[in-house]
Amino acid sequence: MLGAGGHREEPGVNSTQQSGGPVPTVDVDRSDPAYRTWLKEAVRKVQADANRSADTHLLRFPLPEEWGVDLYLKDESTHPTGSLKHRLARSLFLYGLCNGWIRPESPVIEASSGSTAVSEAYFAQLIGVPFIAVMPRTTSREKCRLIEFRGGRCHFVDDPWAMYIEAAALAERTGGHYIDQFTYAERATDWRGNNNIAESVYSQLRNERFPEPVWIVATAGTGGTSATFGRYVRYMQYDTRICVADPENSCFFDGWRHHDPGATSEFGSRIEGIGRPRMEPSFLPGAIDRMMKVPDAASVAAVRALEQAIGRKAGGSTGTGLWSALKIVAEMAGEGRRGSIVSLICDPGERYLDKYYSDAWLAQQGLDITPYALAISTFLATGRWP
Ligand SMILES: *Cc1c(COP(=O)(O)O)cnc(C)c1O
Repeated sequence: MLGAGGHREEPGVNSTQQSGGPVPTVDVDRSDPAYRTWLKEAVRKVQADANRSADTHLLRFPLPEEWGVDLYLKDESTHPTGSLKHRLARSLFLYGLCNGWIRPESPVIEASSGSTAVSEAYFAQLIGVPFIAVMPRTTSREKCRLIEFRGGRCHFVDDPWAMYIEAAALAERTGGHYIDQFTYAERATDWRGNNNIAESVYSQLRNERFPEPVWIVATAGTGGTSATFGRYVRYMQYDTRICVADPENSCFFDGWRHHDPGATSEFGSRIEGIGRPRMEPSFLPGAIDRMMKVPDAASVAAVRALEQAIGRKAGGSTGTGLWSALKIVAEMAGEGRRGSIVSLICDPGERYLDKYYSDAWLAQQGLDITPYALAISTFLATGRWP
């Protein structure tokens, strides 16, 4: 059997020196028909799954038409595994399979704050390999339940920094593959098109009054989403600019602002899915035009305002992006600048009923959302940003 690294006795090595003749060509052939048959089947299953899937909706956030600014939300919560990480997990599995990194029967291991692991557990189950998620102990219980539901295993660490080392060590111990979203997210995604999230948004805006958005507002966990948007708008020669909204306990904002790839932050992010303690290799500062540091209480206030506006709950990171997007709406309306803005619904709020939708959790975290909730309701009623 072939192990994770493809180690086995090398057949076909000819080391017998023939007297007088030419030096024999050293020839190592690792081709393995059984593995290739498995690989073809695995790639087909992932592609077939994509082929069965529909695109996600581009929703409108209701704003008075006369403001001249339209706000759209790309609803990534409707993927089969409930978040924008469905796209990433599919890309990472295809990348790992086609690179020869994911092998039959050896486990796939990931360091994740949850959403990626939920989606990867789905693809691991689809192709029939074991899956282990290394996650912070504070990850929502609902996400762990979803990982186990897809046949994955959850392995907890207390220190957010320990996650990477533990995942790599686990892969070493089990002969598995550490899929490493924080390194590979940006390169596993087809940034030039292939119906990536950016291409999808632009095609869905085609019949709108402002089809080329002035701003796209993303948030960053791996940085993959902002990298894909940033690269795509440059490649397509659009004027759209990319804003990344960063939560409190994250180093991305400072690292970006001071051009410091060594920036770190001490605490784990309270907004699941976004905000990292180190400048992740997959986070591409050069593809980002603007960043905002959003207080966690503002993220929660925004996500609760979203439910009032469109009748849907979403996760905290959706609130972080929405807060920034609303601030830009106010700025544009104030300047009399017409145009559109796109942000994202990253995952559903039902995963966080005991967090962002729990007043007890807010009190325990010392978060007071009242001033931010008031700012949003005032803005939506009057058009003035306090
Ligand atoms: C990963 C994630 C993000 C950010 O996306 P990246 O492409 O990793 O930067 C935002 N929200 C949620 C819920 C996520 O899981």
